Amino acid sequence: MVVGLHRPSKLIIDAEAIRNNVKHEIERLNDDSELFAVIKANGYGHGIIEMARFTKQAGATGFCVAILDEALTLREAGFTEPILVLGITDVKYARLAADKNISLTVGDQAWLDSAAEIIEQTPLKIHLGLDTGMGRIGFQDEATFKQAASSLERNSKFEFEGVFTHFATADENDATYFNLQVARFQNFIAQLTKRPRYVHVSNTATSLWHAACNGNMIRFGVGIYGMNPSGRALESPFALQPAMSLESELSFSKLVESGRSISYGATYTAEKDEWIGTIPIGYADGYERRLQGFHVLIDGQFCEIVGRICMDQMMVRLPKEYPVGTKVILAGESGGKSISMTDIAEYADTINYEITCGFTQRLPRIYINDGIAK
Ligand SMILES: *Cc1c(COP(=O)(O)O)cnc(C)c1O
Repeated sequence: MVVGLHRPSKLIIDAEAIRNNVKHEIERLNDDSELFAVIKANGYGHGIIEMARFTKQAGATGFCVAILDEALTLREAGFTEPILVLGITDVKYARLAADKNISLTVGDQAWLDSAAEIIEQTPLKIHLGLDTGMGRIGFQDEATFKQAASSLERNSKFEFEGVFTHFATADENDATYFNLQVARFQNFIAQLTKRPRYVHVSNTATSLWHAACNGNMIRFGVGIYGMNPSGRALESPFALQPAMSLESELSFSKLVESGRSISYGATYTAEKDEWIGTIPIGYADGYERRLQGFHVLIDGQFCEIVGRICMDQMMVRLPKEYPVGTKVILAGESGGKSISMTDIAEYADTINYEITCGFTQRLPRIYINDGIAK
């Protein structure tokens, strides 16, 4: 992927905000609890290696990723902490994972039987996933789980390292379904004669709003990046600091006469003479087309995005003449006003997670406050 280094559009990521979010969450945990940083999908778009570094500096003792390749990338970068792959890994890579000391999630007995045939000296670390109501992966009934747990204990090709579940509604006000999942999880755990090293249930939302459920490890994801998993529905118990901002500059600026139209489809027509600025960013950067009509910040003022967003460029209506090179904030703060990832997500009818994950590799990621202040 070609990175736009000679273009002013860039993502700015604040290492100090990342470290503060992780530290504040660790302060809320019991002494016997650990925080594993969820840095899948390139650290929710923030950069996987950098997020591993900053979260580790702040006290994270392990990492969670979605796919084996992300775990391998961390090992290649030299991280020796525990790494758990949260999704299902093709059983043909069981030995590779064992050799790299990567822990895998398993949700059925057949997977274990196949893996046992290919694993050699190094045992594979296993976390058994329990489907208590997410309906995604994991054991659904207690009997098959109990059987898998005892087969793990007996087989020296495996190390039974963890057991976990994932909540579907931890970010909602109504706890009815959440409590149903908790009860099912407790029934599963009651089947065990011996608990594995890690018993874990908490994503960010669970740890923020249902901390009493936390086992001895949490899988802290979106909160690392300073985003509220509920959007605006629930208030975070501490102030999350947004880590990512998106900036650019005007690449073109002109006075448009009344009656002239802007961009594909000519969907916007100037009603009077207007100053229109062009910004070199578009949907190929992950700034989605459906954000037409939303706004950016220029000189502390909201400026509407007019006309369709193109692949690489878009236009905004300026309150007055601003020259080429004027700074544009697409996410972040300017003159006491701000645009959050949640603001963007609401306008685009999605969640903040999808916005930061959606920024493509064409946008350079610039890290600030990288050194640890003493
Ligand atoms: C992605 C994921 C998390 C992290 O979720 P956040 O809402 O970002 O905290 C935790 N657990 C599992 C199983 C996940 O897939």
